[in-house]
Amino acid sequence: MKPIPVNTPLLNGNELKYLTECINTGWISSEGPFITKFEENFSRYIGRAHGIAVSNGSAALDIAIKALNIGQGDEVIMPTFTIISPAQSIVTAGAMPVLIDSDPLTWNIDVTQIEAKITPRTKAILIVHIYGLPVDMDPILALAQKYKLKIIEDAAEMHGQTYKGKMCGGFGDISIFSFYPNKHITTGEGGMLLTNNKELAERCKKLRNLCFEPEGPRFVHHEIGWNYRMTNLQAALGLAQLEQINGFIKTKRAMGTAYHKGLSILQTKHYQLPLEKTDFSENIYWVFGLVAPSIKEKERLVNVLTANKIGTRPFFWCMHEQPVFKKMGLFKNENYPVAERLARNGFYVPSGLGLSLEEIDYVTAQLTNHA
Ligand SMILES: *Cc1c(COP(=O)(O)O)cnc(C)c1O
Repeated sequence: MKPIPVNTPLLNGNELKYLTECINTGWISSEGPFITKFEENFSRYIGRAHGIAVSNGSAALDIAIKALNIGQGDEVIMPTFTIISPAQSIVTAGAMPVLIDSDPLTWNIDVTQIEAKITPRTKAILIVHIYGLPVDMDPILALAQKYKLKIIEDAAEMHGQTYKGKMCGGFGDISIFSFYPNKHITTGEGGMLLTNNKELAERCKKLRNLCFEPEGPRFVHHEIGWNYRMTNLQAALGLAQLEQINGFIKTKRAMGTAYHKGLSILQTKHYQLPLEKTDFSENIYWVFGLVAPSIKEKERLVNVLTANKIGTRPFFWCMHEQPVFKKMGLFKNENYPVAERLARNGFYVPSGLGLSLEEIDYVTAQLTNHA
């Protein structure tokens, strides 16, 4: 068996055709027709009025925080178990992330623990849909209404997933997506902000483009922004990928089902598998994660997989245990036992769209033989 990387993207649609068009026409920068087309098509797909394409998902989070005027003295509630991007955006804006533990079954933010952490300084709840199952949104929407909080939805892993039939990325004030190559659709590097609020959309556009003023003299600035623009080349890829998204999602779900079938025996050895569904959604399996009964057991199994040239990734490392935040004096003496266990014992197996069913069988055989 050839090595099986943890992710292989699939670029078999109109990607080359649209990229060739960019080269032939000379439209390669952030000026160019594919960008607005991609923004329009993706925001329509999710069911939002406005899409603002940016250079990556982390950039989208920076813009989302600033566009909502979150800064010094403000608190933003978010899960501790996630990628660093949302916490980094909050901290660099001068605000404070307030962390919440994970639900042991969905691995998402434990919505029952949020209300106790709301203070007069709380400005927003930033939710992150983790690994393939959406956050339970109804309680979040109710809290936001009760306490007049903004909702930022990090849907970077959720293209095409729904919550009670409504698209993820369609909730709250603003949502963000990433198009990194391991996401359901990719632009190489890339991201997008979505909102129904026109003013907010205009503000995001400005922040993406160095805060150039839409009117008035050029090169005169009233505010600091970033160059977080997406290129026409990236948008060309995105457009071609978006054409194939329904098939991609079917493939991902089929892969998840195949893994489940092969790996359910691991549960007798106290391994935890992702939930296949919840009351409000079916898993979309951005990645197929496993939680081992102990760190030692995880390390042993990951070593076996590595020896057999099967790629794996550890789960996210909690925000309250990040050395960079500890150095800043944040999250002192905070503990989140569920998230800590996930971070220590969890890992995921090859889950990319380019994975074949034979490869899934091989990975499954290695896991069941050695767990
Ligand atoms: C991938 C990801 C991001 C960051 O996206 P980039 O495009 O890599 O910057 C943010 N949040 C979550 C939950 C992600 O999975």
